[in-house]
Amino acid sequence: MRKRKKEASPGASGYPCLGSGLLARQSKRETGVPMPSCDAIFTAFLAWGFPCRRAWHVVFTVFDLPRKGPDISVFIRKSGSRALRLLCRVADLKTGEGPRSAVFDPQVSHEFREPGRYSVVCALHGRGRRLRIPLDFISMPWPEFTKSERQMAETIGQTALTSAAATIKCNKCGRLYTFVESVVAPEPSSLPPGLLLFPKGGLFECRDCGHPLPYLKDAQGGLRHEIKRNLAREAQRG
Ligand SMILES: [Zn+2]
Repeated sequence: MRKRKKEASPGASGYPCLGSGLLARQSKRETGVPMPSCDAIFTAFLAWGFPCRRAWHVVFTVFDLPRKGPDISVFIRKSGSRALRLLCRVADLKTGEGPRSAVFDPQVSHEFREPGRYSVVCALHGRGRRLRIPLDFISMPWPEFTKSERQMAETIGQTALTSAAATIKCNKCGRLYTFVESVVAPEPSSLPPGLLLFPKGGLFECRDCGHPLPYLKDAQGGLRHEIKRNLAREAQRG
């Protein structure tokens, strides 16, 4: 019989141990409340173009915390690859005089270059187990508007149901641009000042510094997906 490797027993050894973890789109902490409020727990991201960037919260529990240190690092790893990329470090785990367990919910972001299975890995410095949270990244087909969606949009007109906008920041100089996507594309001259239509081919150079704006194709596909979902909901309502 194979002998199981003895795991670090937190109570006996005095070392902290990781409990369980989840991924959430949002997590908030109210002052004085030790538990975060998480919203929209998820298992997968959808993408309409690569590369693309996503931000989310890694929510995990730690038991038998020491009064001081050690730190925890949160990494991401693509399935089949051994390379860990650091997402963040959670330093200063001390809990003071309170209970020696806690929930952490750092916000992280990562640029994804391809679809597939990923793992978010929380690792205690020094000793202790690693906590692995799987994450799928799914490449979506381009959302085309159907004939009935176009007809519906023409009846409804240009509203929040039939159009959506995304603000994208130039990575080099920080200038912000707001792009609008609609079922029926408006004339560029009819757009309110400051709003732009997505460029054909997904390429747009910053007007201040000439740097290409990132993630435009993914942002446009995401807005089209959102509009299609709005219209489907509206059609169900009758
Ligand atoms: Zn720029």
